[in-house]
Amino acid sequence: MKTYYITTPIYYANGEPHAGHAYTTIAADALARYHRVNGDDVFYLTGVDEHGANIDKTAESKGYSPQEYCDMLAPIFTNLWKRLNISNDIFLRTTSDLHKRGIHKFLTALYESGDVYKGHYEGYYCRPCERFFPDKEIPEDKTCPDHKIPLELVKEENYFFRLSKYQDKLLKLYSDQPDFVYPDSRRNELLNVLESGLEDISISRSSVSWGITLPFDPEHIAYVWIDALPNYITALGYDIDDQKFHSYWPANVHMMAKEITRFHAIIWPAMLMAIGLPLPKQIVAHGWLTKDGEALSKTRGIFIDMDGDIETYGVDAFRYYLLREFSFGNDGDYRPARLHARYNADLANDLGNLLNRVLGLLNKNFDAIPSPTTPGEFDDEIKTLTEETITSLDEHIKAFAFDSALESIWVLIRRVNRYVQQTEVWTLTKPETKPRMGTILYNCLEALRIISVLLSPFIPETSEKIQLQIGLKNFDSDTNWGNLQEGILVSKGEPIFPRVDLKKEEKTETMKPKQAKPKSKKKISENISFSDFQKLDLRIGIIISAEPVEGADRLLKLQVDIGDETRQVVAGIAEHYTSDTLIGQQVVIVVNLEPATIRNVESQGMILAASGESVVLVTPEAEVPLGTEVR
Ligand SMILES: [Zn+2]
Repeated sequence: MKTYYITTPIYYANGEPHAGHAYTTIAADALARYHRVNGDDVFYLTGVDEHGANIDKTAESKGYSPQEYCDMLAPIFTNLWKRLNISNDIFLRTTSDLHKRGIHKFLTALYESGDVYKGHYEGYYCRPCERFFPDKEIPEDKTCPDHKIPLELVKEENYFFRLSKYQDKLLKLYSDQPDFVYPDSRRNELLNVLESGLEDISISRSSVSWGITLPFDPEHIAYVWIDALPNYITALGYDIDDQKFHSYWPANVHMMAKEITRFHAIIWPAMLMAIGLPLPKQIVAHGWLTKDGEALSKTRGIFIDMDGDIETYGVDAFRYYLLREFSFGNDGDYRPARLHARYNADLANDLGNLLNRVLGLLNKNFDAIPSPTTPGEFDDEIKTLTEETITSLDEHIKAFAFDSALESIWVLIRRVNRYVQQTEVWTLTKPETKPRMGTILYNCLEALRIISVLLSPFIPETSEKIQLQIGLKNFDSDTNWGNLQEGILVSKGEPIFPRVDLKKEEKTETMKPKQAKPKSKKKISENISFSDFQKLDLRIGIIISAEPVEGADRLLKLQVDIGDETRQVVAGIAEHYTSDTLIGQQVVIVVNLEPATIRNVESQGMILAASGESVVLVTPEAEVPLGTEVR
């Protein structure tokens, strides 16, 4: 069996976990689950880094010993991971015996490598970073660029690791293995650092008391990063369990946020080279999250309300949104309004309604899953697309493109929805057409079963719900078409993504009180009579598709379902909306406007929008039946 070892950083335990930690951990979880469902022997590590001056200081300020403080914080992390359905195999604490023993062996080996020496160090130090800035990196204002606080001039006796000796070996590593650091933007950054020359780094502190004592000099405490990085091997039982250690090491992926790649992609491999251990295969870094366009900041109260959003939308919607919305490696802007839109459009509408509809038709017309006896139009297309999706998913996962991975699954989901429409399966109730109906419903359920397997790395709870509703008692992770057995009793089909109460959603909206700036308005028009107004026929419709109009960047071609019929409307909103946020939106449409041809496309009506600097669609405050008159 192939092994797959994936890690998150061990998070620094001087505060509670935030959405950035959750993002790394969810992304790593998706990879771990993907490899597990594909039959690999996976080991997934996360944990907390509990040593160092910062933790000592924070604990003291709160009236605790550092150990007491760490003991309080660790469960806050593990509880969050439980809530987010994280499937880690170990939660490593650097205060654990397992780590302490392993680090002892590691530091001894490092010392014996001959690349450790004692010296004096004087330099500019950032306490939150817990690092000295090399001379050429000290900013002119002597302020940490990440923390915006003045650097301190610190002088002490330290042990050093001869990092400079490894410059050429690291450069060779980067050129032999171009994907050692992913994405390229990070790799290039680090390559610049490497090319401009490395200085030796101090690996101990004599002024710090909370940490691990150097085995070769009890007067010194291991520098917190030197204590932390080897967690990736100590977690495998580096000192005691040779078999386990060698079956998983080297790690396939060290996943992290971009600001700590330098430690992982320069210092860590150099130390491993020194002690003669194999190097991790890949260092993978993602970008930072912002919130509604602003950098997260504790002091300014800009944070992502994980608890609130998980409570409103469920943990899978939160996981889905983070993985679907952001392009991995780049910074991503977390917007509760987008989470809401994705929940409604992708999860409730595309996926939830499909399952519900198919189960509803099946329950109404059959006792159990029928056998696919009567093939017909589109069947092969569904089967082929399902198989293609499995392949493209694998390619996207290998490239850490979670957004494209999920999009490819959604292409399949939307195709199955269209299959239901194209075949008009609900009309095939007569005795002579019923075998065909049974076949179509079988195909839909089989597609949904396979979709649930493909989705399981990303939204595992939903995947299980889908299979339970299909009537499978044990999760069936076989993705071969036709594995679904006939004769299974399906469930009644409760919605897997119930509509989110709009009142709750408003709460999240009001948390960011956006005072719309008064803008220079158009003068109010002349009065019209009431009978003039009554001539307008305004109705509620729902956008069921949105496509670009060829040769017109501003225009979208919308299909709007108004109950009895579907209207095609051309709207100049392409700069403000993407098609996937529009689908599933209820809108107000003028239905008795004379049809017009815009860029060779017929427009049968007009949808209402507030139109100023930006364009915002007018939507009903709560969901209403399609075709409802607006007066
Ligand atoms: Zn700093």
